[in-house]
Amino acid sequence: MAFSLPELPYALDSLEPHISRRTLEFHHGKHHQAYVNNLNKLIEGTPFAQADLEKIIREAEGGIFNNGAQVWNHTFYFTGLNPKPKEKPEGELKRAIEGAFGSLDALMEEFSKASATLFGSGWAWLVKTKDGNLDIVQEPNAGNPLRRGLQPLLTCDVWEHAYYLDYQNRRPDYIESFWKMVDWSVVEKRFNG
Ligand code: MN
Repeated sequence: MAFSLPELPYALDSLEPHISRRTLEFHHGKHHQAYVNNLNKLIEGTPFAQADLEKIIREAEGGIFNNGAQVWNHTFYFTGLNPKPKEKPEGELKRAIEGAFGSLDALMEEFSKASATLFGSGWAWLVKTKDGNLDIVQEPNAGNPLRRGLQPLLTCDVWEHAYYLDYQNRRPDYIESFWKMVDWSVVEKRFNG
């Protein structure tokens, strides 16, 4: 069973001006694709040859973990964005956010801080904990909260390849733009499902 690159759920230029077509061409077409290709090569003839990505994330080490997690993380990141996103969470998720953080603004402030202060390459995550609470965590490199028993709800890719063509060293500006693309209807589905 070989993995393949999932198509983006929107056109390459549709996230402009927040993320350019050129960034998506590289980020999805080159980086995400490379993780898929590397993973397919690495799992051949190993116990992970027939495994799904969740199993690889939970159990693999080294290159198989790194590439498998990066495949999953990028698909999760790209599908959390939309050119015409639902701009505010409602229902159970809204109540959970207010319970955990006080307000959506406070969640966004804490998540932005986690994204901006992550040293080097990695991911900031909004997660649901085992007891159903919300939390924000940082993961370096290919890290994924599934490995710690946390359920991912939203992620921001802060590897430089996610923003350097558009923002150069201005990671905080990229994070500000990230919020304009976050589709809360997707986050609600992940939270309720
Ligand atoms: Mn990336």
